[in-house]
Amino acid sequence: MKYAHSVVDLIGRTPLVKLNRVTEGIEATVLVKLEYLNPGGSIKDRIALKMIEDAEKAGKLKPGGVVVEPTSGNTGVGLALVAQQKGYRSVFITVPKVAQEKRDVLRAYGADVVVGPTGVPADSPLSYYGISDQLAEQIAGGFKPDQFSNPGAPASHYETTGPEIWEDTEEKITHLVVGAGTGGTVTGTGRYLKEVSAQRESGPVRVVVADPDGSIYSGGEGRPYFVEGVGEDVWVKNYDPKVPDEHHTITDAESFAMARRLATEEGLLVGGSSGTAVAAALKVAEGLGPDDVVVAVLPDSGRGYLAKIFNDQWMIDHGFGEVVSTSTGTEISV
Ligand code: PMP
Repeated sequence: MKYAHSVVDLIGRTPLVKLNRVTEGIEATVLVKLEYLNPGGSIKDRIALKMIEDAEKAGKLKPGGVVVEPTSGNTGVGLALVAQQKGYRSVFITVPKVAQEKRDVLRAYGADVVVGPTGVPADSPLSYYGISDQLAEQIAGGFKPDQFSNPGAPASHYETTGPEIWEDTEEKITHLVVGAGTGGTVTGTGRYLKEVSAQRESGPVRVVVADPDGSIYSGGEGRPYFVEGVGEDVWVKNYDPKVPDEHHTITDAESFAMARRLATEEGLLVGGSSGTAVAAALKVAEGLGPDDVVVAVLPDSGRGYLAKIFNDQWMIDHGFGEVVSTSTGTEISV
């Protein structure tokens, strides 16, 4: 019989698929890696598994232990899922502005969610970082993975995401295009692919960061933007600036328009940061020839953004689209 022994065994080994419509006029092959097919719905399942298994090996997480992390997003889902399957409780700390739905997802997996106060400085004991530090210390068996500094996060991508892309492209990948939030994906995947291709006759894989306009990674000042999960306003430990060879700055409007095109034209319902990655991948691919193979990593599903990117009124209200008249009535043009 062919079956997985636990849902945890289904993390990783995600497929690559070729883009066919949004790539019109482009000679290079553009492939996307579908991380929303992980059991928790995002790329973050990979780091959750690695950080928890590393902690078990190091004796930081023992039977009866509790995983404590300040997150409301994809990392929380990954950690909740892996913790549950391995018999640990999990507690997540969020701020009130986080959508109720996101907290509900974590609670659905059996996790506890603590909502901290708004408007507290990051270094205050009442910030969501501060609360998580206190809880991790005060709860018996508490362990805080800390995805921004835990070396297991980039290591999980070095050990899985990178090798999967190298093998599935039969060592033909020429360009990797990824977004960077905590930096784990670009540091681990990019480092692996550059190392294995270093001696290749056609030259090493070129690593490209697709960065929101405003993020410091591509020289911005850290001003706010709407796309979620990518870009930063401070430098974080798991982002190794030596790995990327180039950066492409992508606006919210470009990211969201591309996320919508991926749904309507390629059948891929993916999140805003996937739009950022593909928008950058196409800019990279425009200058390339038929032998080039560009791989973009798509971190999560569009299901989490139905009330935003895939909601016409939200797009119009935030200046990302306009109502246009057509022969059959009105529709939104983004
Ligand atoms: N996209 C989304 C939706 C994410 O949640 C994240 C994680 N913050 C990323 C991209 C970026 O991944 P990383 O943290 O590994 O840089």
